Amino acid sequence: MTNKIIENLKFGKINKSEIVQLLKARGSLQKELFEQAKQTRQEFFGNKVFVRGVIEISNYCRKNCDYCAIRYSNKKLERYRLTPEEIFSVAKQINALGIQTLFIQSGEDPNTDKIVEEVLPKIKQELKINNIILCLGNRSKEQYKKFKELGANAYILKFETSDSILFQKIRHEPLEQRLQCLKWLKELGFEVGTGNITGLPEQTIESIAEDVLLAKKLNTEFVSTAPFVPNENTPLKKEPHGDFDLTLNTLAIWRIMLKNVLIPTVSALEKIKKGGQILGFNAGANVITVNFTPSQYRKKYLIYSKKRFVVTLNHALKTIKSAGLSPDIE
Ligand code: SAH
Ligand code: SF4
Repeated sequence: MTNKIIENLKFGKINKSEIVQLLKARGSLQKELFEQAKQTRQEFFGNKVFVRGVIEISNYCRKNCDYCAIRYSNKKLERYRLTPEEIFSVAKQINALGIQTLFIQSGEDPNTDKIVEEVLPKIKQELKINNIILCLGNRSKEQYKKFKELGANAYILKFETSDSILFQKIRHEPLEQRLQCLKWLKELGFEVGTGNITGLPEQTIESIAEDVLLAKKLNTEFVSTAPFVPNENTPLKKEPHGDFDLTLNTLAIWRIMLKNVLIPTVSALEKIKKGGQILGFNAGANVITVNFTPSQYRKKYLIYSKKRFVVTLNHALKTIKSAGLSPDIE
């Protein structure tokens, strides 16, 4: 018989204290949580895993997030920005491999706007890639609109933490602005992705339960959770990384609660535990992102620390296979 709380989660009748209990689940309760999450994924998506190819187009950033080495105060980082030609050439390579989703990510660098505007129509028309996800940070509604008109159909903007005090402290900007951007993206008809970081310093388990509920309220098409990874040359470099199980439990709760959303098994899971991305699939994930940033730039894109785990196509395919799933590569 299914555990009562998991049952409540499945039928959308869960409260915050029950979410906390599930976040803390270990042993048999955790096993049951993952089983239910897998079942939900199978019900909505079968064995299919969505493979995304990411290009990290710039590591310039106007923000100064305490957890991220791309922050503008990090003077040790050599900065780069790809040209439209470089982006197009990587997109071509991704397309040639049969990967159907192109993911363009960057530090919050408005100087990339013109570059992205130039390359989007070319990618769309010449490569016939229909799934173009942007993850470029906060912008004006007008700017988002331009990206949409030029061919981007999805945008990822994580709220990172639902705790507005912690958000302000750690990202040095108001949470409200981030939520406003998410609202604009929805209004413009983007498919939207959001999510959190688990294990940020000072983040409580109750606060993660609030993250779970905020994602439900935002009702986005994709949601993602990643463990906090301490990063060299940041104020949080000495903090411990986020708890692996807590991240997986968040992922599984979202799968059961939100059902037909896309949830990635992120590279940070692999970084803190070998085989971690298989466990992400086993907790209900159905997306994996392969890194195609040209190698001379890749080591300068430091979102998850210098020694971040870089997902190759080979690793992604092996991970998908080990989890008994199949990629959407054509
Ligand atoms: N600049 C954009 C997009 C690039 S950062 C933005 O901030 O939205 C992409 C994601 O990397 C962020 O949403 C954040 O959740 C994640 N990230 C960055 N540094 C991290 C760290 N040290 N640990 C965990 N996640 C991190
Ligand atoms: Fe910039 Fe994004 Fe890193 Fe914040 S998380 S410093 S906005 S790249």
